[in-house]
Amino acid sequence: MLLPISDAINLIFSNVKEAGEEELLIEETSGRVIAEDVESKIEMPPFNKSAMDGYAVKTSDTPGKLMLTEVVPAGIIPEKKLNKGETTLVMTGAPVPEGTEAVVMREQTIEGRDYIEIQKKAIKGENIAFKGEDIKKGERLLEKGEIITPGKVSLLATLGYRRVKVKKIPEASLIVTGNELCEPGSIELPRGFIYNSNAYSLMAQYKELGGKINYIGIIEDNIENLVDSLSKAEKANIILISGGVSKGDYDYVEESIKQWGGKIIFHYVAIKPGKPFLFAKKKDVLVFGMPGNPVSTLVIFWKFIGPAVLKMQGAKELFPEKIPAFFKGNYSKKKDRPHYIGVKLIKSGNILTAEYIPSHGSADVPSFCMADGIIEIPQEIKAIKDGDLVEVRLIHPPFRYYER
Ligand code: AMP
Ligand code: MG
Repeated sequence: MLLPISDAINLIFSNVKEAGEEELLIEETSGRVIAEDVESKIEMPPFNKSAMDGYAVKTSDTPGKLMLTEVVPAGIIPEKKLNKGETTLVMTGAPVPEGTEAVVMREQTIEGRDYIEIQKKAIKGENIAFKGEDIKKGERLLEKGEIITPGKVSLLATLGYRRVKVKKIPEASLIVTGNELCEPGSIELPRGFIYNSNAYSLMAQYKELGGKINYIGIIEDNIENLVDSLSKAEKANIILISGGVSKGDYDYVEESIKQWGGKIIFHYVAIKPGKPFLFAKKKDVLVFGMPGNPVSTLVIFWKFIGPAVLKMQGAKELFPEKIPAFFKGNYSKKKDRPHYIGVKLIKSGNILTAEYIPSHGSADVPSFCMADGIIEIPQEIKAIKDGDLVEVRLIHPPFRYYER
């Protein structure tokens, strides 16, 4: 019997060691896991601030003609207090004068030289962003273990952080196997060859997590070269291997890992695509062997390796959130193993539809690359059809990782 997916995940997670920490410039942290709680030392806004280019007023003076006392650009402190019968022109982002009750948009006034006619009744508080309304002093805004997004980079900068402590992302080496492979970009395809896509999709997937892969290159399908390349790769915390893990005559990865001194923890998982997925270990170095069909590689990284890399960084949430949607299409399968299929998410009105993208299988990159999300169809289910309620997990960030 093939190893169930949940057992494979447990075996991987039980071999994971948590990484150390490093301090990085905030703009380099997107996708990474924050290693400190962040509490605000400041209030936001730090002063009562105008949200518009407009006139600061007391509401009881409006509508009416008011004397212009001052013009305040952003970054300047008003010199005068606002008294009855007076108005001050404040620009967006400028502090409002003491005594201001509301700001009226310039468009709702008639501007004279010394007097401004406010044409509407102002409502208390309108167009003012009050001191501390967005962020209070001492407020906890980020917690250790959260994944940093560009929005959180903005928050860190807002709070005055230039650098922040994050977990180290595991160093990863990548070995690509396959005598039939040719690197894209350089030459025309020789007969019998295909371009190597997995190296590039894996580097891109790792980059989404905020890391960079050390790409060793395409290694010929023979044990000697593979053992040699594993020795080159072993300075890393994890080694990714593409291809060579099936039962073909030229699939030497399992044997090479053994000769290199690694221990196979599992090989073959009940999943489609990606059944020959292999996990091994030598000391603290984890080795992930993915079957070479490009969709298998993408799915196996997404399902197992990405979450493991997050686990190594102590992330609180490891799996993409499940989104309920109605299935569109017809998909039937054997009760052999869980199937992972790509879907497009389409929203019409309040209804979210997950539309099946017909695929020729695990080499069908053009169909899979259109997918927004993945549906897991459990082993015992034989078919899903139009209108069935399904759960979709997004493929790409921004997404939230959930504990299973
Ligand atoms: P393998 O897992 O080595 O048996 O390869 C399975 C299939 O995936 C074969 O058709 C390979 O040609 C193809 N394949 C293997 N590695 C890659 C790669 N890096 N890029 C694209 N296709 C690949
Ligand atoms: Mg191969």
